Amino acid sequence: MLAQELLKKIQDVVGPENCLRDEADRFCYAFDSSLLSQINNWVPDLVVRVKTTEQVATILKLANEYRVPVVPRGAGTGQCCGSVAWRGGITLDLSGMNQILSFDLENLQVVVQPGIVHAELNKALAPHGFFFPPDPGSTKMCTLGGMVAFNSSGQRSVKYGTTKQYILGLEVVLPTGEVITTGGAKSRALKSVAGYDLTGLFVGSEGTLGVVTRIRLKVLPIPEKRGLVVAFFDELEASGKAVVQIFRGRLLPSAIEIMDRTAMKAAGMYKPDLNLPDAEAMLLFEVDGSPVDVTYQAQKIAEICRQFTQRVEWTDDPKRLGELWAARGVVGAAAGRVKEGATRVYIGEDICVPVVMVPQALKKIQELSVKYNIPIVTYGHIGDGNLHAAPVINTYDQEEIEKVKKLGDEIHRMALAMEGTTTGEHGVGLTRAQYMEEELGLSLDVMRRIKKLLDPNNILNPGKMALEGE
Ligand SMILES: Cc1cc2nc3c(=O)[nH]c(=O)nc-3n(C[C@H](O)[C@H](O)[C@H](O)COP(=O)(O)OP(=O)(O)OC[C@H]3O[C@@H](n4cnc5c(N)ncnc54)[C@H](O)[C@@H]3O)c2cc1C
Repeated sequence: MLAQELLKKIQDVVGPENCLRDEADRFCYAFDSSLLSQINNWVPDLVVRVKTTEQVATILKLANEYRVPVVPRGAGTGQCCGSVAWRGGITLDLSGMNQILSFDLENLQVVVQPGIVHAELNKALAPHGFFFPPDPGSTKMCTLGGMVAFNSSGQRSVKYGTTKQYILGLEVVLPTGEVITTGGAKSRALKSVAGYDLTGLFVGSEGTLGVVTRIRLKVLPIPEKRGLVVAFFDELEASGKAVVQIFRGRLLPSAIEIMDRTAMKAAGMYKPDLNLPDAEAMLLFEVDGSPVDVTYQAQKIAEICRQFTQRVEWTDDPKRLGELWAARGVVGAAAGRVKEGATRVYIGEDICVPVVMVPQALKKIQELSVKYNIPIVTYGHIGDGNLHAAPVINTYDQEEIEKVKKLGDEIHRMALAMEGTTTGEHGVGLTRAQYMEEELGLSLDVMRRIKKLLDPNNILNPGKMALEGE
């Protein structure tokens, strides 16, 4: 429960209509996509919808004074409980700060507010011939603020990298209410080494160090053309070897995606007209660039794949391209189809292992599926070694929930044993906090000291990312 006096002060800042107090309204903010948020009932005491940096600054100042937790939130599509107010307090809804503030395309940059949805940004950039390359599957929902906080990426990160590579500067409200601009107070430069890389510190900080209220980001010209190679493999190992061979052949596709047998089955059940053949794995290689380069790369990739399988096709016809990408596009939503009355849950869903270990990891995940008698649909960005395992369970069955928690734990531990990470792009939040001591070693201690310095009263997104240990 918030003190009435504090509530009154917040209402004076944003207006009573932007302070959601009804239980039904607050309940909508109790979840992200994680299983953990689904099985708990972490409803914030108050939701505050903000529109300006000044409002954010005043609210953080007040929260700091009254020692009330504040949890920033974009669209709530995260998968690790990052935007969930598990200790109550205030959820700060930034989705209303959704404007593009300036286009400076001659300098390859734009300035946006954090609530703008990723797909909306790219829609606005497209007529100018530019795009913001990181491409999460949640593009039509997730906000740029959430992407910055999680350093999100997607299918094209093998070539274009992650969000952090495109963030030139940020306006950040610190937990004390101070407002800073990183990357140069007035800079429009595309690079700078003046001072510590504070931009880099805030990107990926999961809303624990400051609230991002403005983002200066780099954009790139849209490639002239895209092409796609699809290959079906009878052995998982062969698919991994093909990827390694393609890198050795000095080729860098803009995406390399894998779907194993389970994922192909799920996609086929969801969209039978995809007509996917029987195979252990399907690889999709996207290439982009000039028309000549696209043809050259696609033919080379197809040639290399033929060392491992004869079932290879390549195309640069936009219609066929769409058809072939469709299987990968539907798999996330299709996963739940593999078991009647069950749902796909997000736990152990984002491991990243060395590329050469991907086939072994896929095999192990299939074994775990048998061990726990839980269907798992697995797909992901094999070009980075990032695998999305989707367990499918009945979320009303407590026994299944307990089983899937153990399953998720085994997947995370497998990734660490393979010299990988528990999270390639979805973040730590609450769900992966328990692995941070093992994964980060002494650097976690440095992170905790930074957190203490910037947020001495621990009001901003407390308890996330294992930042509270000794
Ligand atoms: C179907 C689906 C597909 C997905 N595919 C991908 C994918 O391909 N790649 C990928 O990386 N992720 C993916 N995700 C995960 C998720 O969409 C991304 O992490 C996304 O960037 C989160 O954005 P959001 O606006 O929903 O953030 P939220 O979930 O609202 O918040 C995420 C984190 O950011 C913090 N935060 C939000 N806004 C701010 C701000 N302005 N200042 C400071 N902190 C802030 C929150 O406190 C929280 O810790 C997927 C999710 C779904 C549901």
